[in-house]
Amino acid sequence: MMLLEHQGKAELAARGIPVPRGYLATTPEEAAAAARQLGGPAVVKAQIPAGGRGKAGGIILVDDPEAAQAAAAKLLGHTLLKHPVQAVLVEERIAIARELFLGLAVDPASAGYLALFSSEGGVNIEEVAARTPERVRKVWLDPLQGLPAGADRQLFEGLVEPAVARRLNEVLQTLYEVFTGRDAIIAEINPLAVLADGRLVAADCRMEVDEDALYRQADLKAIKEAQMDERERLAQAIGVTYVGMDGDVGLIASGAGLGMASLDMLKLAGLEPANFLDTGGGINRELMRRAVHLTLGPDNVRGELINLYGGINPMVEAALGIVDALKEMPERKPLVVKLLGNREAEAWAILEAEGVAVCKVVRTEEAAQTLASLLRAREEAGR
Ligand code: GDP
Ligand code: MN
Repeated sequence: MMLLEHQGKAELAARGIPVPRGYLATTPEEAAAAARQLGGPAVVKAQIPAGGRGKAGGIILVDDPEAAQAAAAKLLGHTLLKHPVQAVLVEERIAIARELFLGLAVDPASAGYLALFSSEGGVNIEEVAARTPERVRKVWLDPLQGLPAGADRQLFEGLVEPAVARRLNEVLQTLYEVFTGRDAIIAEINPLAVLADGRLVAADCRMEVDEDALYRQADLKAIKEAQMDERERLAQAIGVTYVGMDGDVGLIASGAGLGMASLDMLKLAGLEPANFLDTGGGINRELMRRAVHLTLGPDNVRGELINLYGGINPMVEAALGIVDALKEMPERKPLVVKLLGNREAEAWAILEAEGVAVCKVVRTEEAAQTLASLLRAREEAGR
């Protein structure tokens, strides 16, 4: 789960890493009031769960409250990097002498943590890393050992003056506390601004938290729950896992592995998934009915693949639930159900009686191709 900049900065500030003074605003008027309160030049920053805002026009420097209001009006209610902007952070504009990059991340490859530092932080850090990898220092850390003495030297020595390196080490120690204390996957400060007098200020913060740890991070869990959209909330109410995507074909699978393989098969058949719902092992008629509404119901979804295996899951119940949902829907969209396992023949008969295309073989490729041709046929008929 990605925190917004202001939420990440609150984590940093709570442990003592300096951040600019600022206020969150959800209307242009609030933004103007925030700028007035700050008094002086400000920055208006779109709060979306994505990096690269600066280059996309989501960071606007302003000199007075009127300009802050106009900047907020330009951002709020619009879409930036595919995310709706619902709030802006209005901060005092700090005079940045130099932009550094400091980050900690979980590194699956080494089954440990990775600390990253660059003396060339800012919006071009990706290019710096790609073109001049030697300018991005990396130190691998053992989670069981904590931050070893000397990590600071490996990261900073030779890249910044000793006085800055000392201050950087303080920020590193604190960032490590934030990172581990909050079960983060990524905690990154870019830019970590050096002011003219040498002080360090976190001008941005990108923090991603491990959702599996939210059980012990009650306040972050509340943030997550507030972030969920209507469909994710519905999925939680049904007790299934739901992931929204950008495409237009729905997918229900009775397991995460089966689902991920099915996503690949849909792609190979030239289709773009709109969602993926994993029923897990708790299928019943009502769960299935609601799952079909959730995934196939939205206007942007053209059709659906349902891929079920009945080991512990009752396939007859599943078929009945699918049919219940179809009867309640205003429109029949192309649907292919691949269903194997316990009492499969009975389940197939229930679906076929309702005119549903049933795939009776193990190969999900065939189900995906059938769906692709149904969609194509429908498109051609509509022309
Ligand atoms: P990102 O593009 O989403 O990473 O957004 P950032 O918060 O990192 O802002 C992008 C860039 O805007 C930074 O690298 C700075 O150059 C600039 N910026 C952000 N805040 C300030 C500020 O308070 N003062 C100044 N002078 N520049 C800022
Ligand atoms: Mn940034």
